[in-house]
Amino acid sequence: MQLFSANKFEFAVCADETYLYDSISVRKPDIIIFDFLSENINFKTLAKKIKPLCENSSVILNTDNSVIDKELLKIANAIINDNMCDELVLATIDMNLRMKKSLEQLSETNKDLAGSLYRLNALYDTSSRFAGTLDKKKLINYMIEGIDKSLSFSLTCTLSLCSEDKPVLLINSLYDLSDELINALKLRTVLHYKSMFEDNKYPFALDAESLRVIKHIKYPANKFNFNLFQYDNMFAPVKLGDTVFGCIEIFKDVPFSTEDATCFQTIAQQVTLPLKSATLYQEIKETNLKLEKLERLKSEFISIVSHELRTPLTSIKNSLDILLTGKCGEINESGNKFLDMAKRNVQRLSGIINDLLDLSKIEAGKMDFHFKNINIHQVIEYVKSTISILAKEKGLNLNIVEAEDLPEIYADSQRLEQVLTNLVSNAIKFTPEGKNITITSELKNADDISVHPYFQDEIANLNGDYIVVSVKDEGIGIAETDLLRAFDKFAQIENSLSRKAGGSGLGLPIAKQLLDAHKGAIWCDSQLEKGSNFCFAIPVASQKSVKTEEFSVLSR
Ligand code: ADP
Repeated sequence: MQLFSANKFEFAVCADETYLYDSISVRKPDIIIFDFLSENINFKTLAKKIKPLCENSSVILNTDNSVIDKELLKIANAIINDNMCDELVLATIDMNLRMKKSLEQLSETNKDLAGSLYRLNALYDTSSRFAGTLDKKKLINYMIEGIDKSLSFSLTCTLSLCSEDKPVLLINSLYDLSDELINALKLRTVLHYKSMFEDNKYPFALDAESLRVIKHIKYPANKFNFNLFQYDNMFAPVKLGDTVFGCIEIFKDVPFSTEDATCFQTIAQQVTLPLKSATLYQEIKETNLKLEKLERLKSEFISIVSHELRTPLTSIKNSLDILLTGKCGEINESGNKFLDMAKRNVQRLSGIINDLLDLSKIEAGKMDFHFKNINIHQVIEYVKSTISILAKEKGLNLNIVEAEDLPEIYADSQRLEQVLTNLVSNAIKFTPEGKNITITSELKNADDISVHPYFQDEIANLNGDYIVVSVKDEGIGIAETDLLRAFDKFAQIENSLSRKAGGSGLGLPIAKQLLDAHKGAIWCDSQLEKGSNFCFAIPVASQKSVKTEEFSVLSR
């Protein structure tokens, strides 16, 4: 003992078992030396009993070699005995003290590591939640929850500029707050808001009185007071480039570490990109809604105007017909010429109006279709009978090449006649005198239909057998770059003949919509100054579609 006091160790001698327990638990000694040589102590039983209390102490046994066994070695960190010189005893104690210190440091480091790991997990969790949402309000809440999880704050004040109507101050607090304290926090937030913009260039004026507050209090039974402002605090803007989404301030009753600061700034920074995406997503959604509305209004407008034009046009046409019969008096030759011209133009105008009406009906899903099993031969015959006179007038040869015994198709014959009439009248329009126009029909499997690469998407969904009708001309042709454009609404490919020929530019888009409704396809191939080949495919009737059906088909 002299040895200990001479070397300035604090020490206590415990001869009594109860005193030993109390000493260990209260004083938490660095080293416990059991004098194994003292009598009346069953050391092994005692050591086992106090072992749990000794976790933070080094255990040294004072014993002689004769009693040392495996059990004892398990309990002891070192052994000394009376034969050892003082220096050796002191060296053993010193070594154990150093070892204990190292162990304590290690456990501290471990604790720090566990803290960092927990924080990393919280960060990872938060960024995964950010990635999964495009809702700005949710993103702000995830940010606050992420900060709470990794830093466990006493209070946060988040200014969110992301709500639809007005800015909001979100207060997430452990305890409730008086109105005065809330006012002080509002003022503070307004100052923070202003600090985020240079030269007082705020996007809008923000004042404390009108700032809406939403509180989330964890333990409402207690209240914070102004001491809160003595807490440690951190502030971060939530902004990406020039876009400001808000800012966040956090208070805690214990000082923040540098790691806390990094974590806080990281989360406040991480949320900005998803907030930007959410803003863009919202803008796109709103623009889409506006576009849909405009499209609806446009369709309604076209439909109303076309109807309104049709009635007076019918009356003009009837009047012209009566005048041309001569029932209202003799009309001289030039009068007749002008009346004829007027009639042709009225017919052209009513054709355009009918096209407009058709398109608006198809686009609104209001077009009526009367599907039944028909033979393509009927359709071709009808078109030939109505249009061959036009071809003849222009000195064109209209040839028909039909494969024999073609199976029936399930279609609306009137709509197919409309499609084929349009294709043939285009061919007549764009083919110079003396040339050929050939209408062909044949049976083809979808796998054997080959098209220009531009139209690959058109036929991608075809499956099974189809009747393919093609209208081939030797006219002006279409440049490869304009092939797809021909099917756009109001498209008229720039060349002198097409300008001269006139037209609504709606025939092909209508044909495409009608074929979509038949689950068919339309495409073309063409070469400038050599001619064009417009083709369409209609599925062969299946056994199921034998009975006649009438229904409206929604356009795609
Ligand atoms: P339009 O009433 O103007 O003929 P379409 O939609 O039927 O409207 O055709 C669109 C455009 O495609 C035409 O204006 C023309 O430029 C081009 N086109 C269509 N068919 C042919 C063809 N057989 N030969 C050359 N160009 C054609």
